[in-house]
Amino acid sequence: MKIVIVGGVAGGASAAARARRLSETAEIVVLEKGEDVSFANCGLPYHVGGEISERSALLLQTPESLHARFNLDVRVRHEVLSIDPQGKTVEVKSHKDGSVYRESYDELILSPGANPMIPPIEGHDRDGVFSLRDLEDMDRIMAWGTRVAGKRTSPRALIVGAGFIGLEMAEQLHRIGMKVTLVEAADQVLPPLDGEMAALVQAELSRHEVVVELSEFVAQIVENSDAEVGDVVTQSGKIFPADLVILSVGVRPNSAIAAAAGIAVGHTGGIRVDDHLRTNLENIWAVGDVIESSHLVLGTSVVIPLGGPANRQGRIVADNILGRSTAYQGTLGTAIVRVFDLTAAVTGASEKMLSRADRESQSVFLHPGSHAGYYPGAHPIALKLTFDPGDGRVLGLQAVGRDGVDKRVDVVATAIAGKMTVDNLVNLELCYAPPFGSAKDPVNLAGMVAQNVLRRLVRNADPTKLPSGDQFVYLDVRGAEERAKGALLPSLHIPLDALRGRLGELPKDQTLVVYCQSGQRSYNACRILSQNGFECMNLSGAYKTWLTTREHQALAHAERV
Ligand code: FAD
Repeated sequence: MKIVIVGGVAGGASAAARARRLSETAEIVVLEKGEDVSFANCGLPYHVGGEISERSALLLQTPESLHARFNLDVRVRHEVLSIDPQGKTVEVKSHKDGSVYRESYDELILSPGANPMIPPIEGHDRDGVFSLRDLEDMDRIMAWGTRVAGKRTSPRALIVGAGFIGLEMAEQLHRIGMKVTLVEAADQVLPPLDGEMAALVQAELSRHEVVVELSEFVAQIVENSDAEVGDVVTQSGKIFPADLVILSVGVRPNSAIAAAAGIAVGHTGGIRVDDHLRTNLENIWAVGDVIESSHLVLGTSVVIPLGGPANRQGRIVADNILGRSTAYQGTLGTAIVRVFDLTAAVTGASEKMLSRADRESQSVFLHPGSHAGYYPGAHPIALKLTFDPGDGRVLGLQAVGRDGVDKRVDVVATAIAGKMTVDNLVNLELCYAPPFGSAKDPVNLAGMVAQNVLRRLVRNADPTKLPSGDQFVYLDVRGAEERAKGALLPSLHIPLDALRGRLGELPKDQTLVVYCQSGQRSYNACRILSQNGFECMNLSGAYKTWLTTREHQALAHAERV
């Protein structure tokens, strides 16, 4: 059997290595148009910032090492120009000697990835404007950065797009002494998160003096003799002189060659595959950023360009070709980013995504410690757990904090894949010793908070849509010192420990919206109040979440006016 693979990085290299492990006799040819195979795209920003000091660390394999270990025929600088599905050949151009030839296949695996989107910005082709996809892009950015650093003491970097790569680049360019501005078309950074969670990340960027401009579309880049690239001008007329510009507004599946060969492409632009990663044409398979897959929560077709899915799909496709039928379960979009001292991560569906899909959902907010509070170094993690209000199925988790974020999001990703409910989260037995967690892990707590809502032990008020009107009275159950630092006003104030003795001060004909700092004391207060005949609601995530929600709404609104 002869297997030809187009693209030799995440999905392609994975498929090739697995295919060889399953068959010593297959002929395996990997055609890669770039200079390198099997490199670590995910590490590129960290070499720009110097955290990964050696460029060679990004090169995980070479054609020679892949040949030695896996007996693969790896041809770099060989670009596939077209596919002939009837003749079962691909047309290949060697950029080494300019020759064009045909390569036959029995099975063809497409893993050509995605291309960075270039927004319609006049002047996007000026010197010093880059996107970041491969090692050559990285080299160009670094060479330009070195040049401008030699001319200016603190060069100005402007990044268009505040998604994962945009934020990584913001952090890394700041690290090498650049003044960074992020311009984002949405009304928040990190669009996969809900706005009130992303506001925490934005605050961290501001704390490090990264300027964030929301709801701004870059329209043009024009000459300015006092800037190495020029003036970046937004549609609203804002002007940012820039010495380096990075475009990171997303990627588009590299599906043109496939489409030209009659391979079905969905409305997302990604190649359509079945659950075994077969395209509509016989003996042609596709994996990675170029395909659309089914979203595990929403069930819709999505393009989610991430390294984990690409690598796992590469393995699955080799299994299927070599007689080990394996289905790909779908994609959750589990993703993580470090932004200075904070980590933000997400899995499953956000509330925003669910509402766009017309799916009913409910969310709870909480701020548990990353580990036991009495052990030094614990930090709160802001959690937003989203679930189905009918059957309690876990639909998504967003988490932002300094420590322990990855572990909680990974646990919940596993729970979602296992179709678990909030009751299951309550019962998970997770690692606990004081330096690592708490006897009730944040994931258990999130399940408990959601379970209390589902079992009607408490009614929650949504901090993103505060109840208002004459029938609602706000009640602050924090201590006086906390209240002095800021409060939702107007509100009554009775600290939790005094509540039982002062119930007579509270109205029985109105609904009390109870809040504390993080939601735990207000829950206790609600249990006292409801058992004493009061109507009450617990403000989910309490004062902390309300603050970030207000921050997000103020920013979003400020950008609109
Ligand atoms: P790629 O790995 O992009 O490989 C496709 C290859 O195909 C390319 O080398 C290309 O040159 C080649 N090719 C294209 N067309 C042809 C053709 N016609 N003929 C021959 N060869 C062709 N994901 C995460 O999960 N976590 C991260 O932290 C993360 N960070 C990232 C940071 C950066 C800067 C970038 C760019 C990506 C990051 N990703 C991350 C995404 C992840 O790298 C991709 O999802 C993954 O590499 C996709 O694998 P793939 O095989 O589909 O495509």
